[in-house]
Amino acid sequence: MSRDLPENVQAVADQLELTAGSYLQSTIRDPGHTCDVCGSPVSSSYARCVHCTKHAESGHPLADRVGSLIYASKPDSQSYLLVRNYKTLAAGPSIKLQMAALLALGLKGHTQCLSALVGAGVQGWAVVPSTRGRAVLHDLVQRIARAGAREIHIDFTGSSRSDRALHPEFWKVDTSAEVPDHVLLVDDSWVTGSHAQGVASALKTAGVSQVSIFTVANVLDSNWDANRRFIKSHLAPPSFDKSRCPWTGSDCP
Ligand SMILES: [Zn+2]
Ligand SMILES: [Zn+2]
Repeated sequence: MSRDLPENVQAVADQLELTAGSYLQSTIRDPGHTCDVCGSPVSSSYARCVHCTKHAESGHPLADRVGSLIYASKPDSQSYLLVRNYKTLAAGPSIKLQMAALLALGLKGHTQCLSALVGAGVQGWAVVPSTRGRAVLHDLVQRIARAGAREIHIDFTGSSRSDRALHPEFWKVDTSAEVPDHVLLVDDSWVTGSHAQGVASALKTAGVSQVSIFTVANVLDSNWDANRRFIKSHLAPPSFDKSRCPWTGSDCP
């Protein structure tokens, strides 16, 4: 069973279904077909995708869980254009509104699911900073962040060139106040997960005991055969389920 959404979030979910239900594809969790950590397709029944395997092998502490709402197929699906373009200067109001709606549905709609999984509420939140310096995601998340949860500032101190490897040392966590036990870390998209897991790792090293990553979209490169096969076998339209839980890929916990 999925959780009853708060009335205002249900209205947002209904509107999303109406305006974008034809192209949004909800994330699923299907052991043997999707990565246990991030929900990306895996081939040959592996438990984890190549990137999550590399993260685990790095020996760095990682996020305790990763949730995501939709898939976005690269290079030209409407979902991908949405997550790629919403923070550009040229983005119109409708694309920003859609991103805000997805964030509200995922974050406000399923906060209690996260508390149920962790056994503790969200006490702090952080956003994976943009390595290109625009704070559009931060401003959207700030508007819908739960009252009572404290923001943890993260600074990107690495080089702007991205090699997509895990670099916890690139991210500086503000530890001027005591860090909370459970931090929700938000990003707009998950490509390899190296940025989000790098920040998660830095948060854990700073003393956070539970890190939950929420990413709006899991980006699938449709040039990869395994991804193309997965899209065909698992994501035939219509595949947007406004009540699916981003933390389990199915019912709410
Ligand atoms: Zn993965
Ligand atoms: Zn849920």
